[in-house]
Amino acid sequence: MNKTRAIFFLFTAILIGCSNAPLNLEIAKQRVVKYYDSGKYDSDLDEIVKQAENKFGSIKPGDSTVVVFDIDETIFSSYEFEKQIGFGYVESMWYNYIMESKDPLIKQTKSLYDFLLSKGFKIIFLTGRNADQYDATYKNLIYDGFTKFDTLIVRQPAEYDFTALKFKSIKRVELTNKGYNIAGTIGDQYSDLEGPDHGVQVKIPNYIYLIK
Ligand SMILES: [Mg+2]
Repeated sequence: MNKTRAIFFLFTAILIGCSNAPLNLEIAKQRVVKYYDSGKYDSDLDEIVKQAENKFGSIKPGDSTVVVFDIDETIFSSYEFEKQIGFGYVESMWYNYIMESKDPLIKQTKSLYDFLLSKGFKIIFLTGRNADQYDATYKNLIYDGFTKFDTLIVRQPAEYDFTALKFKSIKRVELTNKGYNIAGTIGDQYSDLEGPDHGVQVKIPNYIYLIK
């Protein structure tokens, strides 16, 4: 083996080794914090919302034209809470956090919400939160200034075991069957956006967790 070829094989081996190794969890968390705290999250969102406003701005909404918003990490941010607990997930802590109704808003999606209302779109909130969190969620929406919307949809007990994708797809079809025309869907998870009757899809960044 000549020297050039040996170096080539060495680099290939290093690359293959790197691609198979999992990222150290601590490093992954540091990268997530850097993304959010450096302003990159905000600048990405500024751009996403600008593009969304261009798309929705070209639609003429009718009486029943609606945009469906997810809630967690779409209009509310749990980033500071998540960072504080090291990005873990403890069901009881998450539950208590929701019940406080003090989730801060995400300013970019709040301005998209205001833009859509001013253009005459109706707004529906569709969240994977459970029925016993309805009141706390409703209170949090008002607390953050989301005072105008048609309805807030949460999971009913029979739907608790559905994947987010199944639950949200069923609910959007129900809305269509009720006469709504869904112009767009806004969410931080692909399970918020995929499935039938989604209209314009607006993906909000979320590097903290994944929901199927
Ligand atoms: Mg969400």
